[in-house]
Amino acid sequence: MPIIINPDTDNFRDRITTVEDDGSRKWIFAKKPKGSFYNKRTVASILYLIVFFGLPWIQYHGEPFFMLNVVQRKFIIFGLHFGVQDLIVFGLAMLTGVVFIVLFTVIFGRLFCGWACPQTIFMEMVFRKIEYWIDGDMQQQRNLAKSEWNSEKIRKRVIKYVIFFFLSFLIANTFLSYIIGLPELKKIITEPVSEHIIGLMAILLFTGAFFAVYAFLREQICIVACPYGRLQGVMLDKNSIVVAYDYIRGEPRGKMKKEDTKPLGDCIDCKACVHVCPTGIDIRNGTQLECVNCTACIDACDDIMIKVNKPTGLIRYASENNIAKGTKLKFSGRIIAYTLVLLALLTLLIFTFVNHSVVDASILRTPGQFYQENPDGTISNLYNFKVANKQNKVMDIKFELDHHAGSIKIVGNDKIVIDAGSEKQGQLFIIMPQNVKMEKKQKLKIKLMNNGEEIETISTTFMAPVTE
Ligand code: SF4
Ligand code: SF4
Repeated sequence: MPIIINPDTDNFRDRITTVEDDGSRKWIFAKKPKGSFYNKRTVASILYLIVFFGLPWIQYHGEPFFMLNVVQRKFIIFGLHFGVQDLIVFGLAMLTGVVFIVLFTVIFGRLFCGWACPQTIFMEMVFRKIEYWIDGDMQQQRNLAKSEWNSEKIRKRVIKYVIFFFLSFLIANTFLSYIIGLPELKKIITEPVSEHIIGLMAILLFTGAFFAVYAFLREQICIVACPYGRLQGVMLDKNSIVVAYDYIRGEPRGKMKKEDTKPLGDCIDCKACVHVCPTGIDIRNGTQLECVNCTACIDACDDIMIKVNKPTGLIRYASENNIAKGTKLKFSGRIIAYTLVLLALLTLLIFTFVNHSVVDASILRTPGQFYQENPDGTISNLYNFKVANKQNKVMDIKFELDHHAGSIKIVGNDKIVIDAGSEKQGQLFIIMPQNVKMEKKQKLKIKLMNNGEEIETISTTFMAPVTE
């Protein structure tokens, strides 16, 4: 929903700001932002980084609190174990995530990109800060890039890229610890190389990828590669809140001259908003795909407005309708519908999380079998059982009948020991004394015990001759 300000100068749509006329990459040298939004984003980023680097260190009952092991298909989310058997939970979580993203974007535009996206946080709040520290601000960076390869340039480049590489290594290790868990990662780092060739290759691969992203690809990830950015065009509408230029107040733009009699808008065409933009765009051209809502232009423009004694907020969080008609956020039918769907999905997701079990177990009467009348007068039914251990540790399983009169006998080995992440199946008998009053198809409950602790209750039925 781009805003056309001046069709004569509307040629920015014909090109990408990061591509030169000859097709080569145009390097963006963004001016160092400063201001209240930047300070708030710095605080938010610090919290984000603490969580990102800290979460893999948290252990719960001797296991990672959070682990997404896609290789072995073992997942621990907030201490709860999930396995391949929980496909429905993942499907539900993904669906909820998609609806949330759509709803969030419809209302708040790309707020996520500026405040919570790992790419923006690492690029703008970690790597670019280091770059400012080593290479200086926009102009010094430009000068350095243009200068000959002298000792100063070599020194600065080496320091910068060594730090970038080290940080990429740190991110790669943290990223990997989310997949395999910290204990496994420690083994890869501390044990002989020959024992962990694949693990080490993964670390180097991730390090190389992160280094390439933050040292060279940078804003290209948001502009070219990110699917979320591409989807903006279909999700935003005129009520979506985005970082926007108030063209009603700002136009006609122009530098203030004493002799000027022509009335001008509040924009003094200083281009401070353009200079700070990490994706190289001019927000005065309207909402653009490249804008990651980093708020740097808001701070830059507010600073200018204060200097020229005008109200701040010429660039601000606003919707197109808010700027054009002064309307506040309206809850459209689309927003209400998304919200209801999201609430329903969230309720379902919370329900499945709360009722989540560390095992996936089933006990079903063996097909084709009725009841057996044993020589000692007892009645027995044969069952097939299957128990999947979703935990990262061995389970010592016992079945207990939740009925005072009967008993359970496992066919074969009485001990059911299930390794971490694997499953066992077998057969068992439920045996009932002859004189117990039962229905023809008696409902029973079987408790699943792990090391003496009840972890699940399974319902089944018991076939018996009808007793008078
Ligand atoms: S910073 Fe503000 S005043 Fe300066 S060009 Fe941008 S919108 Fe206009
Ligand atoms: S236009 Fe403003 S908010 Fe958007 S990326 Fe550029 S500086 Fe950030």
